[in-house]
Amino acid sequence: MKATTKTRRALVTGGAGFLGSHLCDGLLGDGYAVIAADNLVTGRLVNIDHLRNDSRFEFVEQDVCRPGEWGALEYVFHFASPASPVDYAEHGIETLRVGSYGTFEALETALRCGAKFMMASTSECYGDPLVHPQTETYWGNVNPIGPRSVYDEAKRFSEAVTMAYHRYHGVDTRILRIFNTYGPRMQINDGRVIPNFMWQALRGENLTVYGDGSQTRSFCYVSDEVDGILRLARVVEHDPVNIGNPAEFSILECARKVIATTESRSQIKFEPLPQDDPKQRCPDISKAKRLLGWDPKVDLESGLNLSLEYFRKAVAEREQPA
Ligand code: UDP
Repeated sequence: MKATTKTRRALVTGGAGFLGSHLCDGLLGDGYAVIAADNLVTGRLVNIDHLRNDSRFEFVEQDVCRPGEWGALEYVFHFASPASPVDYAEHGIETLRVGSYGTFEALETALRCGAKFMMASTSECYGDPLVHPQTETYWGNVNPIGPRSVYDEAKRFSEAVTMAYHRYHGVDTRILRIFNTYGPRMQINDGRVIPNFMWQALRGENLTVYGDGSQTRSFCYVSDEVDGILRLARVVEHDPVNIGNPAEFSILECARKVIATTESRSQIKFEPLPQDDPKQRCPDISKAKRLLGWDPKVDLESGLNLSLEYFRKAVAEREQPA
């Protein structure tokens, strides 16, 4: 990334999380000094272990809803939040807090430093979408009081706060709408579909497909996602931008792909569909293509293969007796 100021320092809230830690790697690779702030509710130190000896990297264990002393910054990336349906169901209040107080705090930091700001939003803003594929101009179909609302509404509120700081205070903001991203460092038991299926397939257990498996998702490999994020950081665009892989798969197809990748003998079993589970998800990425010259490169099969070694290790570690 080409720095526009001499500061070349970035704050990543949620920097010990799955995606946050990959973003730290990307920023360091682009020559930035990086501070990762995380309260480790769902983030994990193991994700940033490899950066411990890099003098340009600093980890601060901190609840980012509280003010921090960060020094001069060129960028604030607000990525802190539980992000899997199982995690945000377990940490509902924390999810609402980090999407509200945490977003205010991150924006105040950006305002104080004159830093550019990026908020990690989500395809969950579209809820159970009535428009397909989802364009950024679609306002969504969200149940404001359902079990997913702690995440969906926190992120929608976060987007509103971000736009307000841009409009009222002139903060140079960006809103990134992330679609299902996967890869190494995902927590094996975070409940998301790919870690769940990997865990089950690698242990020879039946894969739990919820509902009839006809619901769809579009899976983006983490290196493509980070590439899109870094490109978005470099341009000036205040309205939301979808970053995801538009190749759409039913969950049944996804289960079959995981079984094939792992060469597992597992079968598929069907379990009840969770409440408000979106029926289809697919990003329209025309805007990202036009604005960023970005296009995801890693298809699902390759991404699963690239993740396999990590998941094998994660399963082995979890199976070890304490
Ligand atoms: N899912 C499934 N089996 C699992 C975990 C998830 O069939 O063991 C389904 C889930 O119901 C949803 C899709 O996979 O339709 C994606 O779920 P995930 O939790 O990964 O993320 P979401 O896109 O729903 O936030």
